[in-house]
Amino acid sequence: MSKILHTSIEFIPGVGPTKGLLLQKELGLFNYQDVLHYYPFRHEDRTRFYTIQELTPNMPAVQFVAKLVNMQTLGGGRKKRLVCIAKDQTGSIELVWFKGISWVARYLKPNVAYVFFGKPTRFGNKLNIAHPELEPVTSTNTLSGQLKPVYPTTEKLKAKHLDSKAIGKMVAFVLTKALPYINEPLPAYLCQQLKLMPKAEALKHLHFPPNAELLQKARFRLSFEELFYVQLQLLSIKNGRAQKFKGRVFNNTALLTKFYHNHLPFELTNAQKRVIKEIYKDMKSGTQMNRLLQGDVGSGKTIVAFICMLMVLGSGAQAALMAPTEILSEQHYQSLKPYARAMGLQIAKLTGSTKASERKKLHLALETGVLHILVGTHALLEDKVQFKELGLAIVDEQHRFGVAQRSKLWSKNKDMFPHVLVMTATPIPRTLAMTLYGDLDVSVIDELPAGRKPIKTLHYYESKRLRLQGFIKQQVTQGRQVYVVYPLVEESEKLDLKAVTDGYELIKRAFPQFHVSIVHGKAKAADKAYEMERFAKGETHIMVATTVIEVGVNIPNATVMVIENAERFGLAQLHQLRGRVGRGAEQSYCILMTDVKLSAEARTRLQTMVRTNNGFEIAETDLRLRGPGDLMGTQQSGVLDLKIADLAKDGQILQLARQTAQQLLARDEHLELPEHQALKKELNKQQKAQANWSIIS
Ligand code: ADP
Ligand code: MG
Repeated sequence: MSKILHTSIEFIPGVGPTKGLLLQKELGLFNYQDVLHYYPFRHEDRTRFYTIQELTPNMPAVQFVAKLVNMQTLGGGRKKRLVCIAKDQTGSIELVWFKGISWVARYLKPNVAYVFFGKPTRFGNKLNIAHPELEPVTSTNTLSGQLKPVYPTTEKLKAKHLDSKAIGKMVAFVLTKALPYINEPLPAYLCQQLKLMPKAEALKHLHFPPNAELLQKARFRLSFEELFYVQLQLLSIKNGRAQKFKGRVFNNTALLTKFYHNHLPFELTNAQKRVIKEIYKDMKSGTQMNRLLQGDVGSGKTIVAFICMLMVLGSGAQAALMAPTEILSEQHYQSLKPYARAMGLQIAKLTGSTKASERKKLHLALETGVLHILVGTHALLEDKVQFKELGLAIVDEQHRFGVAQRSKLWSKNKDMFPHVLVMTATPIPRTLAMTLYGDLDVSVIDELPAGRKPIKTLHYYESKRLRLQGFIKQQVTQGRQVYVVYPLVEESEKLDLKAVTDGYELIKRAFPQFHVSIVHGKAKAADKAYEMERFAKGETHIMVATTVIEVGVNIPNATVMVIENAERFGLAQLHQLRGRVGRGAEQSYCILMTDVKLSAEARTRLQTMVRTNNGFEIAETDLRLRGPGDLMGTQQSGVLDLKIADLAKDGQILQLARQTAQQLLARDEHLELPEHQALKKELNKQQKAQANWSIIS
């Protein structure tokens, strides 16, 4: 790599030490190389001029040449605005300014031709453009069109005139100086095979593309490269682990057979059987298993988890299941307990609220091997918790555990790492699974148990509340049970608590003949458990609750899930909640209650829920709406911190990157071939830059 790429940005004309420092602080730009990799987040289409007739509300910002024919100030106070009519040979359009009115009014001259640039939007039954950019027509600005890069910047930078345009100038300068020194890190045979644009050209065209096609090719090349590095790293970790870490061989099927013959409560679905086979194959392979188990809500992950436990228990080892919350571990405990009992196995639960005296007994039982299965929260990770021999660690992640925590579980077996099975409560999109869990093998339960009737989901506005109540009455009269869920957000905890208690009173008044339970986060654990149990036994008909019931509750007789203020829930949460019904033989319903006023995003969420029951599809929509960082929480965002690739859109490129990385590593595992030296160097550089990665291994 040439020295020129490490030249400080101070030396870019117009930058200097003060602005240089600001750019460092605000954008992390230190040298020429950083500037080259500071990518525009979009391009403005200045390639062609439109006629006014061609403008539609569906287009992005576009440019056109027109004269001003009318200008007037309308309204007063906060409603004051400047409205102009721009006209060309084909038609006219309204331009509106709400700010800087006097300046614009002074600057604009009637009957002079300007180049306008702005986004047409529909306003009533007309089109208009608010705050268009404009400049008078000159001999040059109507000629050559281009795709103009738009760079992210900050208020502090703008105050020093470092706006998108200024950054574009810096980039242009650096490109002329540094371009000849940019090496190609990818092997030539790969570039050829995948028809990748050379690196230097891709950088140039990503910033200043001559046309949309070259921009697309540049973006493809750089996105591929970025995802390729990630996959090379993940797959190296995976391969390395497979070689380094032996796993105890579990092939004693005595317990398994006994369970299948005497205690299996239902026929397993084909998907469950397939997944169990995949896991069993890992467990007898002699290398440590690291597998992700995905399945939609209600697909039956619990029994799969239990059967996997039997594989290790059969050989005298122990199993642990770690969940992110107390409620979830309680639920896992409750659903595993009957299976364990039937098999004569010892199972216990350990959480933050387990009493010291109980803990002592528990620790002892674990160390002596009397206890076979331990379920709990991250309390399991404490050093005091020692197993006789932990053979299988199941982690129910729900996006909440970091990779570091996961690896801590492994060290619970001093002689040999336990096999690790990671589960997620709701499906995660394929691209995220491939990235966040790219070092794991993946099993998917892609089938629901037979006989389930798809849940009917309805979206009701407040105006239909009477109808809702009628429906609840009808269902309860038929012997069914109903959940009514209220949102609980930490910032407005008091208000939310009031909403749920008010809701409870309302329901009690509306249905004096029914028994109603209430469960919310602020209630005492014992009260919660008592109310849950009453509802589970069918002693109460309606359960009013906050999202504490989001996870785990399994009451097949409950057929209606009413979600109040549904617009305040995320998609994954809505899907989880809905998964609480539809577990029995009766038709189930999910009713989403909202106000009429909804944001566009909330509307999409609700429409998605009404349209589909498929958790994988819902997860994809969620990713598109929120982006990968928000979806997975901040904990892992480092891994998802991609500069150019977009996990919501670049699924195919990611797939290609993973395949290519697999093939390359199969041929040259440690990147020793001469043609892979440039790549190896680049990877090392990247690894140093992201210390984050080291936690993974
Ligand atoms: P999840 O994957 O959401 O954790 P669970 O393991 O809680 O799903 O299973 C949901 C419900 O389906 C439970 O009541 C469980 O007993 C039942 N179940 C699981 N597998 C089957 C099956 N193969 N046939 C019928 N019912 C099943
Ligand atoms: Mg579950």
